[in-house]
Amino acid sequence: MDPVTKALDELHWRISGLKGGEVASYIPELARADPDDFGIAITSMGGRRYRAGKADTEFTIQSVSKPFVYALALTDLGPEEMLGRVGAEPSGEAFNAISLEPGTGRPANPMVNAGAIATTALVPASDPEARSARILDCLSAFAGRRLGYDEEVYASEAATGDRNRALAYLMRSAGSLSEDPYAVTATYFRQCSVLVTAADLAVMAATLANGGRNPVTGERVVERDVAVRTLAVMATCGMYDGAGEWLLNVGLPAKSGVSGGLIAVGPGRFGIAVYSPPLDPAGNSVRGVAALTAMSERLALHLMHAPVHLTATVTDTGHGARSSRARSAEQSALLNGSSRRIVAVGAQGELEFTETEQLLGAVEGAVPEPPGWLVLDLMAVTGIRPGSAAMLAAALADVARRGHRVVVAAQEPFLAVADEHPAWHAFGSRDEAVAWCEDQLLAGGPPASRPTAGDGG
Ligand code: GLU
Repeated sequence: MDPVTKALDELHWRISGLKGGEVASYIPELARADPDDFGIAITSMGGRRYRAGKADTEFTIQSVSKPFVYALALTDLGPEEMLGRVGAEPSGEAFNAISLEPGTGRPANPMVNAGAIATTALVPASDPEARSARILDCLSAFAGRRLGYDEEVYASEAATGDRNRALAYLMRSAGSLSEDPYAVTATYFRQCSVLVTAADLAVMAATLANGGRNPVTGERVVERDVAVRTLAVMATCGMYDGAGEWLLNVGLPAKSGVSGGLIAVGPGRFGIAVYSPPLDPAGNSVRGVAALTAMSERLALHLMHAPVHLTATVTDTGHGARSSRARSAEQSALLNGSSRRIVAVGAQGELEFTETEQLLGAVEGAVPEPPGWLVLDLMAVTGIRPGSAAMLAAALADVARRGHRVVVAAQEPFLAVADEHPAWHAFGSRDEAVAWCEDQLLAGGPPASRPTAGDGG
């Protein structure tokens, strides 16, 4: 057994003895759930899947559908229109509270029922069937398999769901719902009756963690910006009126549902799901909250923990960089004698803000004196954020203004960054870059001169 599954099994065993909580019964069919059912599942960013207990038992998704349908509507409407229709403020109230903005009737957020019903109505479709089909397709893409419905739970909720219908009628009268309230709540009940397992939910959560790309199927389900906004709403509003305490204790974007499902997301790290039907007074799965609290503490998952940088960004800051090109004894002597004129600074990995700031510090500390050639070796860089590219460009332009020649060695996609800057020379390898500087130095070329057309690679 692999170590992750072993740890998950051990946690499952420890928490399965936890009693307490009530299985939801206001939807009569949900009361039939077995209070002892308990499954945990994790999906990593590499698409590896781990599970413990009843992670393959099916149950209805209920409110755990809300963030995913929000992501779907957000994709179609765009952020401004979406926010105009459904707010993003935690209501601090129960899931079925009548929390509408005075004056506009805009629901507080998409994670409580009013906001979720309004969100479902915002999914563009020609008719209710088409809307349900789009929602099922979307949830299936997040899960990475074709999902279906629990017809009994749907019928049971449709027969007893007057409070949700009342919410929809209220929104309609306040002007915040333009669709037929009866039809929209039926679509919402359909969405809530989709059958999933904890293992499915972990993949769905992992897709949000992975910036909208399903790490198991590789399919891009939603854009990165949509995933980020969805996670933000989950972080503040995902746990009913227990959202504040959840962020304090567990510190992960999450969403729970009345059937006992609970997902939590470690952005860029994993998706976790728990299924256990007994709920605490706030409506969250008792064992789900206990499992996530324990995991968060043990593995330091809390979002507010400062991230640990596992690898150094700057790989070298060398004076006297030399290429592999054959040189005469006289040329070698000249190059060795001018070893402070050609400097290479190397970097590796992803250049986000922190990494770029480190790299720029290294560049600043390494610029040659008197003016010379600065080789920035980005060959081992795997990604540059737009903000980082701009920081880098500004810093290198400044180095060039101070009379140095700036030479960048980078892989194909990042060469484009250098191409936008005529003051830089770009090469596809460090060796070529350094050789070019050596040639210039040997030719006695003043480093302060602007590059001429045809120079460089
Ligand atoms: N279908 C349920 C309702 O609207 C979902 C509630 C929930 O999971 O919070 O009452």
